[in-house]
Amino acid sequence: MVPDKAHQNEAKLGRLVVVSNRLPISITRAKRGEWHVEPAMGGLVTALTPVLRERKGLWIGWPGIGEEIDPAELSMAQGSGLGYQIRPVMLSDQEVDEYYFGFSNEILWPLFHDLQNFCNFNPAYWKTYQAVNRKFAEAVAQSVEEDDYIWVHDYHLTLLARELKSLGLPFKVGFFLHTPFPSPDIFMKLPWRSQLLNALLEYDLLGFQTTRDRNNFIYCAEALIRNIHHDARRQVSVITAQGRRARVGAFPISIDFREYARQASVDLVGERVADLRRAIPDNQIILGVDRLDYSKGIPEKLKAFRYALERHDDLYGQVTLVQVVVPSREDIPRYQELRDEVEGLVSEINGQFTQWGWVPIHYMYRNLDRLELLAYYRAAEIALVTPLKDGMNLVAKEYCAANRDRNGVLILSEFAGSATQLRHSALLVNPYDIEGVANAIHRAYKMEVGERRARMRRLRKSIRDRDIFWWVESFLQVAAS
Ligand code: UDP
Repeated sequence: MVPDKAHQNEAKLGRLVVVSNRLPISITRAKRGEWHVEPAMGGLVTALTPVLRERKGLWIGWPGIGEEIDPAELSMAQGSGLGYQIRPVMLSDQEVDEYYFGFSNEILWPLFHDLQNFCNFNPAYWKTYQAVNRKFAEAVAQSVEEDDYIWVHDYHLTLLARELKSLGLPFKVGFFLHTPFPSPDIFMKLPWRSQLLNALLEYDLLGFQTTRDRNNFIYCAEALIRNIHHDARRQVSVITAQGRRARVGAFPISIDFREYARQASVDLVGERVADLRRAIPDNQIILGVDRLDYSKGIPEKLKAFRYALERHDDLYGQVTLVQVVVPSREDIPRYQELRDEVEGLVSEINGQFTQWGWVPIHYMYRNLDRLELLAYYRAAEIALVTPLKDGMNLVAKEYCAANRDRNGVLILSEFAGSATQLRHSALLVNPYDIEGVANAIHRAYKMEVGERRARMRRLRKSIRDRDIFWWVESFLQVAAS
């Protein structure tokens, strides 16, 4: 894949139509009743915006609110600087409950993160999931023009290509899965495994985060479908089954490295870093930034930190774990339980170790603004990124991009998608191995500056070379070939 040839090839594709569960906007209702629409932040939006603007593209998705909003009013959003069109798919409260919270987040999310015991295989969820995928397909059908390329994102919309075909639309449709894809042992637990897998094979191109995920998908296809053929010799394999042909490849997502590095260098961030240093003097800061999610392994991380303090006397009073937990899916009971567990552990550990002038864990349960986040990234000598399973984990990449002093150490779970790319320069750990993670914390703490610099230089180069723009171009280049 050679991204600089991408523009040439991409030109073969027509207008780009992106479909995802959420539109890239946030909507609030002002006091006088009118809607206030703002472009959302995030890596995917940053990456796709230039392509969508250049190709006069369209983004289709749910606006994230339950109430009816007049689509004409919403299209005003184009005036607010998006630079491309959007089309809302309205969902009822029941649809949001059963398709989004239910099937997507109580079945596919845990299953795809190898946590099948957390799945709630409620048949009503499956029914609504199919109906909402059909609804999205109808919205696409009403909006597409000849030569459009449709690019569907993530596990909420696995059935969309199948629904489009059943509506008689002969478009090329690509799909990118932002989560991991599980091995057959796990995937086979899904009661609707054949329907879902067959539906995925209706896409022309299926993109996964890593070759491990792509191979898992191929193994599941082999296990479930008779007479399947695949050619796995290339980076993008071809699967043929029952007259269909789907290409499957690995396209590791990334960040806008240069923008993170630039923003991390601004004076305001520097001032915050100095404030932080004053607030936590003479300690190495170990940073954890995780959305509240059981796949992130936050309790395991806290236990490993406790173990490190118990086993390594030289860490006592010398390191501070700053753990940021970003609120998420608070309507799902399991997430509330997780929050209680995390906060119980933080309080236990602080109760056990705090002494005059030193609190081992600084805990925050909130969203940080970008400046604050960058300041923590820059101030931290060690990043502790230990998900039990993660599609990619962008925090690991953002930490490196912001680390302008190049002396940070990245401790990274081997089960994060980013480990495939960063394994040689990060300290790789098994997040279930509490002793192993504790030893990695100690090793990072003791690491000489020369080794820190050499590792961080390699990490940054790797992320800079394969940034988010590389990712978009790689996918679209294959799509056009
Ligand atoms: N992030 C955020 N608010 C915060 C802290 C982090 O929006 O207070 C962002 C962070 O910059 C990163 C994203 O959340 O881009 C987390 O992405 P990641 O891939 O690590 O995990 P995900 O939450 O998507 O599973």
